[in-house]
Amino acid sequence: MPAIEMDAPCMECNEANAILNTRNRSFCGPCYQRFLAYKVWRRMDHYRPRPQKNVKPTKPAQPQLLLPLSLGVSSSVLLHILDTGLKRQLAKSGRTSYAIHILVVEPSTELPMSVSYDTHVDAVREAFPTYSVTRIPLHRVFEYVPDMTDIMAEYAGPQFTDDASQSNEERLAAFRSVVSTATSKSDLDTVLFTRLIVGYAKQAGCESILWGDTDTSLAAKTLAGAAKGRGASLTWQVSDGMSPWGIKFDFPCRDISKPELSQYESVCPEISAVVIPDAPLSDNILTKNLSIDELMLRYVTTQGEKYPGVMANVSRTAHKLETTSGSPSALCSLCGGMIENVKGNETGLTVASQFAGKGSQFCYGCMRSRPEIIS
Ligand SMILES: [Zn+2]
Ligand SMILES: [Zn+2]
Repeated sequence: MPAIEMDAPCMECNEANAILNTRNRSFCGPCYQRFLAYKVWRRMDHYRPRPQKNVKPTKPAQPQLLLPLSLGVSSSVLLHILDTGLKRQLAKSGRTSYAIHILVVEPSTELPMSVSYDTHVDAVREAFPTYSVTRIPLHRVFEYVPDMTDIMAEYAGPQFTDDASQSNEERLAAFRSVVSTATSKSDLDTVLFTRLIVGYAKQAGCESILWGDTDTSLAAKTLAGAAKGRGASLTWQVSDGMSPWGIKFDFPCRDISKPELSQYESVCPEISAVVIPDAPLSDNILTKNLSIDELMLRYVTTQGEKYPGVMANVSRTAHKLETTSGSPSALCSLCGGMIENVKGNETGLTVASQFAGKGSQFCYGCMRSRPEIIS
């Protein structure tokens, strides 16, 4: 029988047609998935227990890790890659080096979100039946971050009165409504999401949070953070290591770009029902209505296509920023950012809130997003 003619064979296996390209290499679907997966697995390698010489092996406690699933492309692909890796470990050695808990945070009803979460969360449970999947709405931040009530009142100032008789959903909506601009709202939401995820992870006994950020989103975060005066807290927001809340942050997709993850998704039918597609970037939206975060993501996405290496360098540079020696004198009550200067980054100014009454202090970035104080 004559061999099947192939247009261009996969450079990895040489057996199937190449259908995807990246980094000057052509792959078939499965080889492409493996190529990206290795980059993630390598980042997770430090969770593998290492046998020590002359030490009788005991069964080490298995690290519990939290994966916040936004149901977007990045975190969904990250979950699929980690699941594949854990299945391989299990088949090889009968055990896995860590356990994953999945957390889906639903935006509060105030946020523009027209998607039905039920269908997508059901799809997660179906595609990943061996994991615990928890789904909580954003307003439960009051339960998981007990001091949030005080922080909120001190942050919003006298024009905001928290009515404890209202539901948490209504209280959060009232708080968000005093913040006026798109940038400040999106900035505040990011902080609230992070605080809720951290609060949940700590209660669940997790030692680290696995964020789905790619080099594209880390570059956008870095640029937006600097523009918003959040330079001082950039390092832990984009680097693997300890966060200000005593829980580690890991960014296992940091060596991969967003378009590369999207290509992975295109050959991964297992997660097609899980992923909520990104809203298309419309050119018609007035840039003045966009938040700095959205603007930077657009910039990095379009420029990243032209200059992929440059965008990866942006987050790597922030990764290298050193904080001032010794323990920081104060951390922002809201975002956990340092109220101190950062070497080499003049945007991390030392500003504490002169309005903070009960001892809450806010960093420069949070002060800028704070509602105008009418005196
Ligand atoms: Zn192949
Ligand atoms: Zn802050």
